[in-house]
Amino acid sequence: MADLNRARHKEIGGVLFGEQIAEGDFRIVETTRQRFFGGTATTFKRRGGMARKEILALHEKFGGDPNRFNYLGEWHSHPNAPARPSFQDETTMHNLLADQSGVVNFLVLIIVKLDEQAQLHIGARTYLASGHNLDCKIEIEAAKINAANEVTIDKEEK
Ligand SMILES: [Zn+2]
Repeated sequence: MADLNRARHKEIGGVLFGEQIAEGDFRIVETTRQRFFGGTATTFKRRGGMARKEILALHEKFGGDPNRFNYLGEWHSHPNAPARPSFQDETTMHNLLADQSGVVNFLVLIIVKLDEQAQLHIGARTYLASGHNLDCKIEIEAAKINAANEVTIDKEEK
């Protein structure tokens, strides 16, 4: 939330690294964040070379156990749009999936937005190699999410 605040109206984002805790159930163990000046008010320019380096470093950090810990997908902010993937985002995710040349059969995209009331909104969608998309159920440990996808962090458990 502090990063989103600092980036103001520019999009920021990075890669997601996840742990599979059950079939179809993943915990995000780490996210990276690309530099603020890379984004404009409406587009987040993913740096492919940097993302690849980050993913390799995370594989090393989590002990090279790709069945349990692996690249899960991407995240970015939508300071000027709802926390839902745009048409361009959908295209980018399908292209990224194609670039994985069959190594992964799905990728997740998380969109975050901090609104004028400093309320955090989160949307997440899974892109399957088959070309289908699925909305994800999001759980935030020690936080509550209401029907409008607004997140309240429980202060006592923070
Ligand atoms: Zn987007």
